[in-house]
Amino acid sequence: MKTLAFVLPIYNEEGNIPLLYERLVGVAAALEGRFTCEFIFVNDGSRDRSLSLLRGLRAADERVSVYSLARNKGHQIAVTAGLDVADADAVIVMDSDLQDPPEVSHALIEAWEDGADVAYAKRRTREDGYFKKLTAGMFYWVLSKMARIDIPRDTGDFRLMDRRVVEELRRYPERNRFLRGMVAEIGFDQRAVEFDRDARHSGETGYPLSKMIKLAADGIIGFSSFPLRLISAIGMVLAVGAGLWTVYLAVSRLAFPDSVVEGWTFITAGMFLLGGIQMLMLGVLGQYIGRIYEEVQARPLYAFAVAEHGPLPR
Ligand code: UDP
Ligand code: MG
Repeated sequence: MKTLAFVLPIYNEEGNIPLLYERLVGVAAALEGRFTCEFIFVNDGSRDRSLSLLRGLRAADERVSVYSLARNKGHQIAVTAGLDVADADAVIVMDSDLQDPPEVSHALIEAWEDGADVAYAKRRTREDGYFKKLTAGMFYWVLSKMARIDIPRDTGDFRLMDRRVVEELRRYPERNRFLRGMVAEIGFDQRAVEFDRDARHSGETGYPLSKMIKLAADGIIGFSSFPLRLISAIGMVLAVGAGLWTVYLAVSRLAFPDSVVEGWTFITAGMFLLGGIQMLMLGVLGQYIGRIYEEVQARPLYAFAVAEHGPLPR
């Protein structure tokens, strides 16, 4: 029988864990006889009762493994930790707030059995706020323009991956992780399965704007050097423009010696404009350099404070 592992990152999901588990068990029951299922919960430093709830589940069901990171490391790292410990023919990653309906797994498995190595769940519709939809739309648009590989749009980390994809993923050591881009980069046979994304069942998002920006930056910077090339492009346009304008000024001054070139307002405005552009571009450089620094430090991605797995002690 084939083995299937669910990887479930958990950050303050006490209100979702019971129902999530119930629905996962339902999915596993429907797969009985075909797959042995395992539920890998990775607690990402939750501040609520999530960890004790998870341990409660584990005490009664040995299909449940509970790993707990030593502190909050963020969604992408939590998923990475889960993928690192998963030992199954296929792994399904999904959010734990029931925005990704566990039942969609059946369609993902179908695609896998049909030969796909990655079956990613693509949102046909989503029940998120206005702001989230708008910013997500902008992000995927920019990413598709800039990234040097095709990263599927409207697709989160909800996906099934064959064992060989998970094994490839383990060879990616980067600290600033954008998993959906990394998976796209790996290749193999990747297929979309459309679904309607639900609203968060309970609790609030663990992705405030600051984390969304960090993830977007990881996606763009991790998969594109376009921002760096943009610096030269802007510099080029400004330099050529300024050169032509200088020629024009010189010529008009020579042709009409009486003309006075008024300009201190312009000089001040231009100074601030140029200063602003330069600092912005330094910031772009800084983003890349900061990431280089983090990669060079090569610190471990996470530490487990709790790792409960395998058969229950009797
Ligand atoms: N999550 C996590 N660590 C974090 C933030 C979120 O493990 O620091 C988990 C969270 O429990 C959920 C998934 O990542 O399972 C997606 O997070 P969330 O639903 O809060 O994000 P949103 O859907 O609002 O983008
Ligand atoms: Mg969510």
